[in-house]
Amino acid sequence: MRRGEFIAFEGIDGSGKSTQSRALADRIGAAGRTVVLTREPGGTPVGEAIRAMLFDRELGNFEPRTEALLHSAARAQHVAELIAPAIERGVVVITDRFIDSTLAYQGGGNHLSLVDLESIQSFAVQDTYPDLRILIDVPPETGLARRLADAASVNRIDEAGLMYHSRVAETFRQLAAVHPERWFVVDGSLPQEQITTLIVEAVRNRFGSMSDI
Ligand code: ADP
Repeated sequence: MRRGEFIAFEGIDGSGKSTQSRALADRIGAAGRTVVLTREPGGTPVGEAIRAMLFDRELGNFEPRTEALLHSAARAQHVAELIAPAIERGVVVITDRFIDSTLAYQGGGNHLSLVDLESIQSFAVQDTYPDLRILIDVPPETGLARRLADAASVNRIDEAGLMYHSRVAETFRQLAAVHPERWFVVDGSLPQEQITTLIVEAVRNRFGSMSDI
């Protein structure tokens, strides 16, 4: 059986990842392909339990290394239990965040070594890397303003401040610039429908198997 395609959405909080990953999944589904839409941290019962721990303010501050390992632990489970088997079945897998979020947040944001983080990622995901990574690029002010307008979803990450988010956004851009063949970068300040159109076009161009979406 033909292997499924694996697409990861990346960007800061409020950039529009969940909006656009849903739109792309709907579009691919409407073309008759089976799609799994998932997110990180989470995606499996173990991963969702780790997510709840990461966002539990009662626990106090996590050490950046602890945070990196917890995200990577959730990811290892996500790959083994959900992503890799779905790809094997020929399904299209779309995830809202993957390895580059750990590099951007714990590396760029919290100053951990990218080399160390990459080796932890390789341990966590084995050989399951995305076929395409989509960066929705917005200025940190835009991401924060969108998120803070939605009080229910304010979490510890929103409180970490503008400087932190600026470093994260910049690291995402650098990751995409180092390996442009892996990435499609889209301006997240555009209207939602226009972003979806650009993403669909990029996916069509990238995958012969999805030329009809
Ligand atoms: P993320 O998953 O990256 O945190 P969301 O998709 O949840 O981002 O979007 C955050 C907020 O911004 C939501 O209220 C959403 O409706 C809004 N939003 C998403 N994309 C756009 C856009 N292109 N322009 C304006 N607002 C947007």
